[in-house]
Amino acid sequence: MARYLVTGGGGFIGSNLVHALLVRGQHVRVLDDFSTGKPENLADVLSDIELAEGSICDKDLLPAVFKGVDYCLHLAALPSVPRSIEAPWQCNRSNVEGSINVLLAARDAGVRRVVVASSSSVYGNAAEMPASETAPIAPISPYGVSKAAIEMYARVFAGIYRMDIVALRYFNVFGPRQDPNSAYAAVIPAFIRRMRRGECPHVDGDGLQGRDFTYVANVVDANIRVCEFPGPLAGTYNIACGATTTILGIANALNAIMGVDLQPEFGPPRPGDIRQSYADISKAEVAFGYRPLVAIEDGLAQTVAWFDGATKG
Ligand code: NAD
Repeated sequence: MARYLVTGGGGFIGSNLVHALLVRGQHVRVLDDFSTGKPENLADVLSDIELAEGSICDKDLLPAVFKGVDYCLHLAALPSVPRSIEAPWQCNRSNVEGSINVLLAARDAGVRRVVVASSSSVYGNAAEMPASETAPIAPISPYGVSKAAIEMYARVFAGIYRMDIVALRYFNVFGPRQDPNSAYAAVIPAFIRRMRRGECPHVDGDGLQGRDFTYVANVVDANIRVCEFPGPLAGTYNIACGATTTILGIANALNAIMGVDLQPEFGPPRPGDIRQSYADISKAEVAFGYRPLVAIEDGLAQTVAWFDGATKG
């Protein structure tokens, strides 16, 4: 049994990881300040995990939290582009300063490998799609800057402190436990929430923005693969499906899955919104055998089913 620390384990992706690690019989500790995550995401596993409630910005807390940890999956962050535009200093504090604290605490505790959650937002409006990891980094939001910065810290720390750090660039993750109620809700849970109430999905801009929507099980699998990979591993990897779907395409697919016909309503485009984003995922496949396990259609159906169950339950 290995000992995992999941920072941000009370959030959407983090809590899915926690559940998957427990199924695999691993020991799991969670560090979360529940600023955007929710204790309910872990309610059914509270007696199976160690929960440290606190912030990655609190340096004094970290040595005890990192004690005895083999692998750190670092997901704690303020994840929203619009939020980072409203409060860039807040984004920098959690996503950059907090991440530096995490990496140094992992170094001091002798953690075997750290997996850092990065984002497709580092590419900005990349000239070439699908974006490969060799493309230049060109973020267009403070959030994208924060993820680019932590990738660079990861690379530099791996060299100067001889640490094993891998950064995974996730592309538009969706699935169970993603928060539909926040003012910064991602598009898929926001659409499902509205459409379940018989309301039209609200689209920012023309809806023709393309995204490489990635079901959360694929991201969970990538994190576990990286930790279980037996040899040395470093660098940055795209984690996505390697396909593009428009926002209007998502609205159509949800109409079909939910058996409704709710036409989108349109608002102004959002500042900092990338036009097209999709990934070349071959580097992760070659390095540690990553391949998307769940396609977008199945993922959407499973997500709608989960929201149905969560509301009834
Ligand atoms: P989320 O908001 O559900 O999870 C983030 C978690 O981090 C929350 O539980 C929050 O309470 C916690 N957190 C925030 N600041 C903290 C702090 N200072 N100390 C301790 N905990 C803190 O978001 P998510 O979608 O699950 O994202 C997880 C990670 O994946 C983030 O790093 C995000 O940037 C990255 N990511 C997400 C996506 C996506 O599409 N969801 C895409 C690319 C990258």
